[in-house]
Amino acid sequence: MPLTLRNTVRASIAADTVKPVSKTGAVPSEIFGCNVFSMKVMHERLPKNVYSRLEQSVAGGERLQESDADVVAGAMRDWAIERGATHYTHWFQPLTGATAEKHDAFLTPSPFGDERIISEFSGKMLIKGEPDASSFPSGGIRSTFEARGYTVWDPTSPAFIIATGSGKTLYIPCIFLSYTGESLDSKTPLLRALDAVSGQALRVLRVFGNATAYKVNAMVGSEQEYFLIDRRYYNLRTDLMLCGRTVFGARPCKGQELEDQYFGAISRRVIAFMTDVEERMFALGIPARTRHNEVAPGQYEIAPMFETANLAVDHNMLTMQIMCETAAEHGFACLLHEKPFAGINGSGKHNNWSLCDSDGNNLLDPGNTPLDNAQFLVFLAAVLRAVHKHSVALRLGVVGAGNDHRLGANEAPPAILSVFLGEQLTEIVEALSEGRPGKAGSTGGMIMEVGVSSLPKLPKDSTDRNRTSPFAFTGNKFEFRAVGASQSIAPANIALSAAVANALDDIATELETEIAGGVPLNSAVQALLARLFKEHKPIIFNGNGYAEEWQGEAERRGLPNLKDTVSAVQRYSDPDVMDVFRRHGILSERELLARQEVLLENYVKDVHVETKLVQVMGRSVILPAAFKFAAEISTYAAGGKQSGNPALSRYLSDISGKIEGLLKTLDAIDAKHTELDEIEEFMDKAVAARDQLLPLLIECREYVDALEGMLDDAVWPLPKYNEMLWQH
Ligand code: ADP
Ligand code: MG
Repeated sequence: MPLTLRNTVRASIAADTVKPVSKTGAVPSEIFGCNVFSMKVMHERLPKNVYSRLEQSVAGGERLQESDADVVAGAMRDWAIERGATHYTHWFQPLTGATAEKHDAFLTPSPFGDERIISEFSGKMLIKGEPDASSFPSGGIRSTFEARGYTVWDPTSPAFIIATGSGKTLYIPCIFLSYTGESLDSKTPLLRALDAVSGQALRVLRVFGNATAYKVNAMVGSEQEYFLIDRRYYNLRTDLMLCGRTVFGARPCKGQELEDQYFGAISRRVIAFMTDVEERMFALGIPARTRHNEVAPGQYEIAPMFETANLAVDHNMLTMQIMCETAAEHGFACLLHEKPFAGINGSGKHNNWSLCDSDGNNLLDPGNTPLDNAQFLVFLAAVLRAVHKHSVALRLGVVGAGNDHRLGANEAPPAILSVFLGEQLTEIVEALSEGRPGKAGSTGGMIMEVGVSSLPKLPKDSTDRNRTSPFAFTGNKFEFRAVGASQSIAPANIALSAAVANALDDIATELETEIAGGVPLNSAVQALLARLFKEHKPIIFNGNGYAEEWQGEAERRGLPNLKDTVSAVQRYSDPDVMDVFRRHGILSERELLARQEVLLENYVKDVHVETKLVQVMGRSVILPAAFKFAAEISTYAAGGKQSGNPALSRYLSDISGKIEGLLKTLDAIDAKHTELDEIEEFMDKAVAARDQLLPLLIECREYVDALEGMLDDAVWPLPKYNEMLWQH
């Protein structure tokens, strides 16, 4: 038999002796933010009065006047054109979960054919665009004949230039609305949620006597995990190209068992890639900071310095895009899927989160004085309340077919939301809720008196870490670890901000009422903490989140265990779940129901594409290879001496058994697809996809993976795990 393409590729990768190095070697401090129309650039280029009004509008969130916007637009255009930009685009985040852009030229030839060139980019065009939006998901908010949608500039996220080859384009971050003013994107509700949490946090700060802060920002640093494989293998794996994950592939003989990849020396080829990625990030003002090998072979992580949530979301979207593009240039494919390879670690995104007031204080930092400690405990209580009361809303922030392979699938983290506080803080919470003295080591055997006694120094570091918790306190921030690697962090942060805003609202109302009624602040806080800590203690779990027992324990505590996307999305329309988003006008009922529909539709499409792919690859790639091989052995067995060799007959019949099983299952998928096409409601379709299609996919995989282990290595058509993960 001739060598398969896979084996040719394998040989060519093995023959590579020269590993690429990073191309430019620019100095980070010199290039940082060089392609960003930042506040600093605006300060230099705008008239003083316009700049100061812009600054106010960015800080306070008010609309910029049209005449000012015109001036900003002019300065932005000149800046971009000076740097060689020929086009501009509104850049937005529709409900596809990706970003969208449509470029327009700055310079347009005159339609009158007189060689004049028109350069037009007014304030109106900066502030508002009107793309044909008919093909973006809207969950029924807009029918195709009402195609209009609006993109509106978000001045809190600066414009930037992206260079691709010799072309340069100015990107203007925007929100995306329907003609009727409903949000069709993730940025609009994010900005609303961030406003809500700011407003409610300020109320609490006022109660504590803070008169200076005018805003509270949610701060986010997202650690991004990803895989790199050689692009030549990737090109032979249609499943990776179309679905982002391998639908077939036997487990590698060596996976992550030896843990020799985690924090290991980074290979030269990978470092070259990372360096180029970081350089591009720096030019866009994205503060890349940490890079390391992750736990699985071929898996890595990049983490930026934390920033305001809105910027962190935009920057994470750009980071993913930069990684994928740069990978291609380095002969890699960057895999962002939550589970590209079955049987080894998947990829997530840890959303590190805190609240910071406009005076620069981290509200989740215990602080040094008894008053700071009291305020910290109130914000801690708010987060516990948010996660406990609104855990379904939070779970909805991380749904998706890809993430279903991770959450609750015996890997980090479980689908049950709980909070890790560490031993010492938990003991303080318990002591306060029971009104008893703390044990030695927490409050030193004294009753914690709010506003009088101080918290002990809490451990910030590793001894106290728990990797299995989906929501962990790490010293002065929380880490929401359930976000999938390929997902936008916007939905998670919308849910988190909304939930915390509601909890802070409840708390502020209670404290304001008590104090107005003459109760001293310290007593009001002491009583509130005792009650809230008691009520929300069940959400605290410091144990092993992977353990079987936790499922039962969580159930006894009444914590929801929404194992997959469909069971979570079913809860979207529960009135108490919708209330989390409705209360502060973050999403309207119509917008929520639209999102529910889009999520279900996406789920169904994802499963559909995967099962279609299994059919196509099964029939046109796997079966021909298996049949040819079986035929060759049969011929060999039939001829001469081998005829009647029992070992050979057994081998052959084993292979035939798998082939037959595979064929049958592929037929079953055909039949199911036809059935599913008949179902009208998306909810019913999604349930059927989960319960009837996915199991068939797994069944096919079992046959194919078995065949992979039986057929001659020389004839197997698909790159194997052993090669893709280890051969760099
Ligand atoms: P680890 O992997 O040990 O959790 P990393 O250094 O990889 O830590 O990532 C920690 C992330 O948390 C970084 O993005 C960092 O900027 C971010 N972070 C640190 N402090 C805060 C904070 N106060 N608020 C939000 N994010 C923070
Ligand atoms: Mg990390």
